This record gives sequence, structure tokens and C-alpha cells, in this order.
Amino acid sequence: MSRSLFRSAFAIFALGCAQLAQAGSRADHVFIVSFDQASPAGIAKADMPVYKEMAAQGAHTWEAYTIVPSLTLPSHTSMLTGVGIQKHQIDWNSYMPERGQVKVPTIFSLAKEKGISTAMFVAKEKFQHLNLPGTVDLFVYPKDDETCGSVARHFAEQVGTLKPGLCFIHFGDPDVKGHEFGIDSPQKMQAYADTDKALKVLRDAVANAGIADSSVFILTADHGCHDIKDSNGITRGTHGSSSPEDVTIPWIAWGKGVKPGKTITAPVVQYDTAATALWLLGVPLPEGFWGRPVSSAFEE
Ligand SMILES: [Zn+2]
Ligand SMILES: [Zn+2]
Repeated sequence: MSRSLFRSAFAIFALGCAQLAQAGSRADHVFIVSFDQASPAGIAKADMPVYKEMAAQGAHTWEAYTIVPSLTLPSHTSMLTGVGIQKHQIDWNSYMPERGQVKVPTIFSLAKEKGISTAMFVAKEKFQHLNLPGTVDLFVYPKDDETCGSVARHFAEQVGTLKPGLCFIHFGDPDVKGHEFGIDSPQKMQAYADTDKALKVLRDAVANAGIADSSVFILTADHGCHDIKDSNGITRGTHGSSSPEDVTIPWIAWGKGVKPGKTITAPVVQYDTAATALWLLGVPLPEGFWGRPVSSAFEE
């Protein structure tokens, strides 16, 4: 073995030890998968056997809720910082590099402080606002192909090498097709089905990496959706309001330590995903965190 190869092998070994050493951790790997604009009502109608199997096997609620405004970047920022928009201050919804990064810690920065490796695989460039310097070991945004199939392929290529402790995956297709064709359109239904195939790619890749037994998946969404007519009378999907259609989201935990077949009855809010991920990894929640771990989804 060459010296440099040995050195990188040792670095990977040391990284693995750091992750395992987290006192009080319940899992070594947490994968948060966000299905953009995937409402519980839409999922119920969609052809998503893998997703529905994981919901049935794991712990689930179809009545979690997101923040208002129910918009992609503000909502995901709450999902990944554990605080509301009043505190994280990301109140825009496009990629605006001149605005810099989020001003509060993210779950990636908090995990990184504890030596946990981190990764993000995203279908929209605006997630760069959450990529604080030095906190995300691998940030993948496949600009040339933003489909869920492409995001999942990048994940499958990398997960076995990095074996991230904390990983976020974003599938954008339901949002793209929902806006363009309406929330119950065949195109949006196809997008849901495509994300289900991509979810299977993630699950298989985690199994192939040999870390399935020590992993938890959280499946959720940034917001729901409702239909409107545009100025030409064409049906389009939208979101952003405080209506139940827009703010109701799914929340599913699947994997190590999850209570099988559990229906979560405790209220679950967008920022609880952040708290649950840190709690699973044994990272203390900082003061001022709004989120609380969804502990009822897990064995004592
Ligand atoms: Zn969105
Ligand atoms: Zn949208």
C-alpha cells in the first residue's frame, strides 16, 4: 500500500471512529430525504410502492406541518437549522449569491463540530445558502441534470466512499411538474413515481455501502400545494400560503430503532426534523433551538 493511499485509508478509518464515538447516539447515519411539493394527498394517489412500504414499516404521520410562508428555501432552512423563519431570516426563495449564507448554525455545522461527516445532494442551486464554509464535506448539485434520477445516481456513486453521518437529499421533480401542470396532473403523478424509483436507488446504495443497520431515513417535504388558474385559465400548482393544503406535509422515520408500524400522534413541525437528526446522532441541541426530537417514533 502506498503511503498516500495508506494515509487516506487511515483518514477514513479515523473518521469512522469519530462517528462511532458519539456518546448517546442512536444511529451512525441519518439520511433526510425531502420530496419537494410532495403533499400527503398527492402521495396517497401516486404510484409510490417503496415510499409507502417504508411508511408502513416505520413510523409515520401524514399531518406534520411546515412553516409559513410555505416556500422551498425558507421551509428547507427551517428543516435544516431547527428554527423558524423569524430566527433564520432566509425569507427569499431563489439563489441570490450576494446575500451570502444563512446566519444561524445548520445541522451540518453542528454535526461537523462533533466530527460527524456531512453531505448534501440537491436539485436546486439555492441550497448553497445553507452550505456554510467548511460544514458540508460533499455538496452535490448536478446543474446539467436536476432530475431525481440524477441526484440519486450521484448519491449512489458517493455514499459508499464517504458513508456520511448526516446526509440531506432533495428531489425536485414533483415541484417542477406540479407548478407546470397542476397538482393532480399525469405529469406530477409521473414525477412522484420517478422519486419513488430514486428513493429505491438511495435505499439500495445505503445497503450496498454496508451501513443500513446503523442508518435512519427521514422522508418528508418542504411544503404541500394547491391548484390555481393562471391568466390563461390553465391549471397550475402553487404553494406559499398558510392553507392546510400548503402546510401539511408527510413525516416518516424508517430504519434503526424506529418503532415498526407506529402512527405518530405528537405534533410534528418542520424544524423537528433538524432536532430529530441531531438527537439520533448524539449531537446536543443548542440553546434557542425551536425543534424537538420526534422521540415517540423511536424505541426507548
Ligand atoms: Zn418546494
Ligand atoms: Zn414550488
